[in-house]
Amino acid sequence: MDTFAIPSSVEAIDPRRWETFAPYFADLQERPLTSTNLRQWLTDWSDLTRLLYEAASLIYIEKSLDTADEEKEQAFLDLIDNVFPEAQVAAQALKERLLAFDANEAALQDMSLVLRNMRNEAELFREENVPLFTEVSKLENEYDKITGGLQAIWDGEEKNLSQLAFFLNDKDRDVRQKAWQTIADLWFSQREPLNKLYGQMLKVRQQIAQNAGLPDYRAYAFREKGRFDYTPEDCLTFHEAIETAVVPALRRILERKRTRLGYGHLRPWDWVPEKGALVDDSHGDPLRPYQGQDALIQHTLNIFNQLDPQLSRYFATMAEDGLLDLDTRAGKALGGYCSSLPLRNRPYIFMNGVGSHDDVQTMLHEAGHAFHVFETAELPLVWQTDPPMEFCEVASMSMELLASPYLSAQHGGFYTSPQAARARIEHLEGIIAFLPYMAVVDAFQHWVYTHPQEAADPNLCDEAWDQQWQRFIPDVDWTGHEVSRKTGWHRKPHIFTAPFYYIEYGMAQIGALQVWRNSLTDRASALNAYRRALSLGGTKTLPELFASAGAEFRFDTEMLSELVALVEQTTAELEKSVLS
Ligand SMILES: [Zn+2]
Repeated sequence: MDTFAIPSSVEAIDPRRWETFAPYFADLQERPLTSTNLRQWLTDWSDLTRLLYEAASLIYIEKSLDTADEEKEQAFLDLIDNVFPEAQVAAQALKERLLAFDANEAALQDMSLVLRNMRNEAELFREENVPLFTEVSKLENEYDKITGGLQAIWDGEEKNLSQLAFFLNDKDRDVRQKAWQTIADLWFSQREPLNKLYGQMLKVRQQIAQNAGLPDYRAYAFREKGRFDYTPEDCLTFHEAIETAVVPALRRILERKRTRLGYGHLRPWDWVPEKGALVDDSHGDPLRPYQGQDALIQHTLNIFNQLDPQLSRYFATMAEDGLLDLDTRAGKALGGYCSSLPLRNRPYIFMNGVGSHDDVQTMLHEAGHAFHVFETAELPLVWQTDPPMEFCEVASMSMELLASPYLSAQHGGFYTSPQAARARIEHLEGIIAFLPYMAVVDAFQHWVYTHPQEAADPNLCDEAWDQQWQRFIPDVDWTGHEVSRKTGWHRKPHIFTAPFYYIEYGMAQIGALQVWRNSLTDRASALNAYRRALSLGGTKTLPELFASAGAEFRFDTEMLSELVALVEQTTAELEKSVLS
C-alpha cells in the first residue's frame, strides 16, 4: 500500500480499542520509505493523528458534559488504558523513522521546527527515566488527592477548596476573612504531608535531570518544554523588570483601593493572588451581563462583528455547528476550556457560565483559542498546527483586550458605559496584579531547582518563598498570619504538578498588551497581524510569531514600563466614565 484513507469521521470507528488504529500504524511502520513517498507517508501519519486526537477530544468533551454517565467515563478510561500507551509507542517508532531522514529533504521543507521538537524529545529520552516519570506522576496525583479531599463546614454545608474560594470575592470583608481563614486552616492541616511530598518530588526530578546528563532539573525542564528561544537568565531579567516597572503600579492600585474602602491596611483576605481575588472597590452590585447561552452568544457575536467580520463568521460557525456548550448545569464538569477537533479543523468551547462578568471574560478568552484553530486550518500537517504555549495564550489574552472597547451596549455588548468601564478597569488591574505573583512562583522555582540540597529542607523553601513574596507582593499586612504567607507555595498547584510551567502566562500577557497597544492606533492592521500570526501555528519560532503579531519577544524594564504606562493611562480615562 502506498497510501491509505482514514475514516472521515470518528462516528465511523470504535475509538476505544487499539485495534481500530493499529493497522494504520503498522502500515506506516512497514511501508518502505524513500524521498519520493516521504511526503505521502507524512500526510497519512498526520491524518491518522488527526483521527486519534479528534476521537480523544470528543470522548473528553462527552465526559465533561455529563460526569454522571458511567459509560462516558468508561470510554475515557478505555482510551487512556487501551489506546494511548500503544499509540505513544507506535508514534515513537515513526518519529525514529522520520528522524533518520536528512532534514534537507524536499518533503520536509516546512517541517523544520516540528523536526527540531521531535529531535529534542529523542535526545532527551532515557529508558531509565520511564519508571521515574511514572513515579513522579503518582506523586503529582497525590497532591491532587490531598488538596481535592480538603473540606470544611461552611454555613452548615461541606465545601471543598474551590467552593470556599468563591467567598474570597465577597463584598463583605468579614465573609472574606472567614473564608480566607477557613482555607488557611485547611492548608495548614496538610503542612507536613505537603512538605514531605515536595521533598520526594524534588529527589525524583533531580534524578531525571541527572539521567539525561543535565546539571539540574531547571536545565532539564527548559529542554523538555522546548524553550529554545529564551534562557533561565531571560526569565530572571523578566522578574527584575516586573519588580522595577510593575510593582510600583501595583502599589498605586492597592493604595487607591485601600483609601476608597477606608481600610487602615489591606489584609490577606483583601487580595489573594493565587486566586486572582483582588478586593472590588467599586460601588454597585456585581455585574450581571447576560442570562443564558443564547444571550451570551448574541452579544459576543456583536462584539466580534465590530472587531473583524471573519472572526465573527468563525464564531457564528461554532454556534451553528453546535460547538459551544456554555451554560452551567448539574452534572457538567467544572471549569472551561477550548478543545480542538483536528479532523474537521474546528474548535469546541466548554464553559460553566452563570451570567457573571467572569463568564464574559472566559468567553472572549476561549474564543481567542478557538480562532487559533480556525486560522491554522490551512496548514497541511497536524504537528504544524500546534503553537508553543507562550503564543497560544497570546491568542486568547489578546482577544480579551481587543474586544474590551466593545463591551458596552452601544457596540452590541453587555453593559452600560459606566459598567463596561468598571469591567475593563478590573481586567487591567488584574493584569498588573498577576505579573508580580507570577514572578514569585517562577523565581521560587528557579531557586528550588538550582539549590537541591537546601531545597530538601522545607523550612528553607518557606524562607525562599517568603523572600520572593516580600520582593514582589507589597503593602499587605500579614500580622498574625506569617506562617500562611511563608507556606504560600503549598497553595499553587503548578509548583507541585507542573514545574516551571507558569511564566508562559506572563510572557503571553506582555505579547497581548502589545497587540492591544497596536490596535489603539490602527485597529485593522493590528487585527490583520493578529490573524496572520495565529495562522502560522507552530511553524515559526516564538520571536517570529510575536513579530508577526506586531509584538516584540522582549521582557525588559523598558518594554514593561511602556506597557504599564499605557495600562495606567487607560485606567485613568476609564475611571472618568465610571464616575460620569
Ligand atoms: Zn488560555
